[in-house]
Amino acid sequence: MKILHDYHMHTSRCGHATGTIEEYIAEAKRKGLTEIGMSDHLPFLTHRDASYTMDLTELPFYHIDMERAREAHASSLSIKIGIEADYMQATVEDIRELVGRYTYDFVIGSVHFMKQPEGDWAFDDPREIERWKNADVNEVYRNYYRLLQGAAKSRVYDIMGHVDLVKKFGHRASADLTDLIRETARIFAETGMTLEINTSGLRKPAKEIYPALGALKIYREAGVPIVFGSDAHAPGDVGADFDLARDLALAAGYAEYRVFKKRKVEKTVKL
Ligand code: ZN
Ligand code: FE
Ligand code: FE
Ligand code: ZN
Repeated sequence: MKILHDYHMHTSRCGHATGTIEEYIAEAKRKGLTEIGMSDHLPFLTHRDASYTMDLTELPFYHIDMERAREAHASSLSIKIGIEADYMQATVEDIRELVGRYTYDFVIGSVHFMKQPEGDWAFDDPREIERWKNADVNEVYRNYYRLLQGAAKSRVYDIMGHVDLVKKFGHRASADLTDLIRETARIFAETGMTLEINTSGLRKPAKEIYPALGALKIYREAGVPIVFGSDAHAPGDVGADFDLARDLALAAGYAEYRVFKKRKVEKTVKL
């Protein structure tokens, strides 16, 4: 079967994506998807960055817009309301509290920030790419997986987003990280995490789906279930490369993926 559920997309609300909810819906219908999950970036609690997320005061309106769209298209497209929430060790309890104030169908946990002696580093942000020059790539990778483990252990999130995002700009670890990925997979399984197969890496210098096949096999062996996301930041990217994503999942040994409702598994769908 074709993958019919895309659980990762952003609207212009976040300040770095284009498109309205209506444009995403139209594109999803055009591509024959049966369900989309909106997952705009959760506002930061510590500071304001209009190029990264909506403001905290806008969050209620995000929900109003999404609910309205869900009702308006109820007969032709299923719309789930999710959010992509950063994992930040220092404020994870505040993130838990904020996410708990709303009824989400799923919460994607993403690691985009890494503590460095010089301060937080958004390692996947093109504006901070210079900092890779002085970075120990192996150490960045190790750090990244430890943050993923922390995110899973917090149990704030349902889905772990783009789980090898560190490769985005093409930096590759020379060290063998298999054991660390195995440990991460075990922690995901123990904490009930679902893994996202995210096709946006194909549109970035990494030119590869997140995660790569080798790692995906490890997650599958550990029993970690999956969802699919395009991480569209423009309507045209909805459902992008889902045939490749499906092939990758099958190659890793997966036979089904999950559909969420109100932060529970609504059903599983055969691949
Ligand atoms: Zn984004
Ligand atoms: Fe992300
Ligand atoms: Fe995203
Ligand atoms: Zn994302």
